[in-house]
Amino acid sequence: MDDERSHASRRRTLTICGVLLIVIGVPLLVTGIVKFTSTMGSPPPRSSTQEFFDDPAGTMDRDNARWDADMEAKKASGLGGMAFFALGVLALGVGSSLVTFANRGKLARYTANEVAPVVADAVSYVATESAADVGAAARALQGATPPAEVVKVKCRACGSLEREKASFCSSCGKPL
Ligand SMILES: [Zn+2]
Repeated sequence: MDDERSHASRRRTLTICGVLLIVIGVPLLVTGIVKFTSTMGSPPPRSSTQEFFDDPAGTMDRDNARWDADMEAKKASGLGGMAFFALGVLALGVGSSLVTFANRGKLARYTANEVAPVVADAVSYVATESAADVGAAARALQGATPPAEVVKVKCRACGSLEREKASFCSSCGKPL
């Protein structure tokens, strides 16, 4: 039984590690996406060469230097975003597989007890539904063919409608 218990505790440890990795992975992933998308927008226009010549004070030069620095920062942020994203994906992947691995017995039992009846229900539902559909289609086909005409006669005694070939009224019993 000791083996059983150590097995259970190891499984719990694995589950906790997996859940922790998932908990860490989600913000990493989100941070990565946010960082990366923040670098997506088109950059502000860089001053052209012609504008340089019209700008003896050199403000354009400073602007462009700032622009270059912005681009560098954006590039770094984009790379950082990708790194965060990759780490997040890795953490989520490892975490979820750890949880799955640790609970595979439980999962299998869960599948057998919970999922299988649902699947069976769904299958039988589909089966009965399609059977009903087939029946409806058959009835529709039958409805499409005109029913054989039934000539009826009225009983002189009680007025009930009887088949032409009947010799006695089914309602009052008198001969037609
Ligand atoms: Zn009658």
